[in-house]
Amino acid sequence: MRGVALAELHCHVEGALPVSLARELAVREGVDISALTDGERYLWHDFPGFLAAYGRATRLLRRPEDYARLAEMHLSAIAADGAIYAELFLAPDDATRAGMSYAACLEAVAEGAERARARSGIEVRLVPHILRQNGPEAALRATRTILAHPHPLVTGIGLAGDEREHLAAEFAPAFAMAAEAGLGCTAHAGEVCGPESVAHVLDALPVTRIGHGVAAAADPALMARLADEEIVLEVCPGSNVALGLFSDRAAHPLARLIAAGVRVTLNSDDPPFFGTSLAGEYRATAAALGLDAAGLTAFTRTAIEAAFVDEATRARLISRLAPVEPAPFRA
Ligand SMILES: [Zn+2]
Repeated sequence: MRGVALAELHCHVEGALPVSLARELAVREGVDISALTDGERYLWHDFPGFLAAYGRATRLLRRPEDYARLAEMHLSAIAADGAIYAELFLAPDDATRAGMSYAACLEAVAEGAERARARSGIEVRLVPHILRQNGPEAALRATRTILAHPHPLVTGIGLAGDEREHLAAEFAPAFAMAAEAGLGCTAHAGEVCGPESVAHVLDALPVTRIGHGVAAAADPALMARLADEEIVLEVCPGSNVALGLFSDRAAHPLARLIAAGVRVTLNSDDPPFFGTSLAGEYRATAAALGLDAAGLTAFTRTAIEAAFVDEATRARLISRLAPVEPAPFRA
């Protein structure tokens, strides 16, 4: 990706746990994960297997410093590939499961992000997520926890977890509270469920972005709505193919979404679980759609335009991109 600045809006911090760090933590914890890993990725064969592998790997994160190292390693790696901006998702409910407070987990991830920024200049924001399967009451509790611990790097809130559980509208009170506090809003939808799941989120929640949203490609009217409302999709093609939503990249609807005028970005989701990387997504998309550096930079520009940052930071990030070539004059 020489010469192309990258940006990422959709990556789960625990899902970015490098295999090398997992191996080190496994030795410390006295756990054998040799059957769980191969090279730099985790092994699994179907969706339940993915969830089991995700659980086994992320349960190795027992101390705040583990989160700090994970964030620093991941962000330094994508910065070395050219990333100038990244948002990381984290979940208060996951921190609790790991036996840590949200505040301790947040401080640790922020510390790792600061270390990466000091070394590489990568700008980072953190976007805590509420988990759909835990229901609206837990969502309110998680949102109150998030708002009770404001942090300069926490600039958004999201909805993740099992998309088949609960209606988006049930989370409207939690999102209203977060939006009122000034947080940007995003929600996973249209990944494993159909276009109606995306429409439900647009109808019920104050989002400017949708995580995945690729199911919208099956509904031309919905694509037109996304384009009209300038909703940005955090598309994760490699993750979608790895989970079997599409047979391969040629069958992935990214090109159809772009053709319909939907604003899209490229993201790795849970990189070592899906064999993805941010640079890898840019490379594979360049190959699949026949894009040059300027075509790829358009994804980065969209990501920065949709980033949950203040306007001064946005302008500074945009200034680091290659200028848009003016259209040739035609008589
Ligand atoms: Zn995701």
